[in-house]
Amino acid sequence: MKEKYRKVLTKIEEADAIVIGASNGLSISEGIHIFADDLSFQENFGHFREKYGFRSIIQGCFYPYPSQEEKWAFFSRMFGYFLINKKASPVMKYLYELVKDKNYFVVTSNIDAHFTQAGFPKERLFEIEGNCRNLQCSHTCHNRIYPGDEILNKMAQNQENGKVPSDLIPTCPECGGSMQVHIEVDRNFLRDESWQSSLEAYQDFIKKAHGEKLVLLELGVGARNQMIKAPFMNVTNHEENATYITLNKGRELYIPEEIAPKSIGIDGNIAEVLQQLVQMKCADSAF
Ligand SMILES: [Zn+2]
Repeated sequence: MKEKYRKVLTKIEEADAIVIGASNGLSISEGIHIFADDLSFQENFGHFREKYGFRSIIQGCFYPYPSQEEKWAFFSRMFGYFLINKKASPVMKYLYELVKDKNYFVVTSNIDAHFTQAGFPKERLFEIEGNCRNLQCSHTCHNRIYPGDEILNKMAQNQENGKVPSDLIPTCPECGGSMQVHIEVDRNFLRDESWQSSLEAYQDFIKKAHGEKLVLLELGVGARNQMIKAPFMNVTNHEENATYITLNKGRELYIPEEIAPKSIGIDGNIAEVLQQLVQMKCADSAF
């Protein structure tokens, strides 16, 4: 095992470019499981669970709320659950520590905005499905997303009986209609200029790394994930000097035969694996 960790660390340290791909498994290693009816969900969303019968945060995101007051109670609660008064988790700190001095780019389908929270700059981040901090017009009357921290914060602090006060509810500055959090819950999800430029930055990053020592570091991406995993495997396959490193648990850890010689998989708790790697890195630099 130690040898495997050493190999991963060496690949990361020697890399000219690192693409980090992260999905649900990374959040789970932080203690956030948006698909689970776990204790944390019951404690933080118990009222919603009881009232609407949904059993996870993700179900709550898709729920057709009867009113804007109720809808925003949920989405501001979710914002608070992910971000308010919280510091970056140890997992995210380890990850940042591991790559901060490297040339890297992050692509994620996570909506919890934990990469920016941990200090990863926006220019190096592509949040494919948006995040819980931004807002857009529900009717997509114009193609722009808005920072929502302030209003979400207020709504999170001022809700009662599963409702927020009507005067706090955001409305679209163009059409005056309802707004929604900028996460991909329906076909209305906007791919505005900032989303497009993040996508381009991601594609450019991979293009520029052509021929270089490229590491594709995949964290908690499910075996059937097509958004992150499929392109990662494709790039690994086509790039001569690419290395595919995947951290996942049990059956989710999957490496196809074609890229196996260029791949390293570690089956385990992502938090513990990253911690190990950072400790090894620190021990190295102490000498
Ligand atoms: Zn509008």
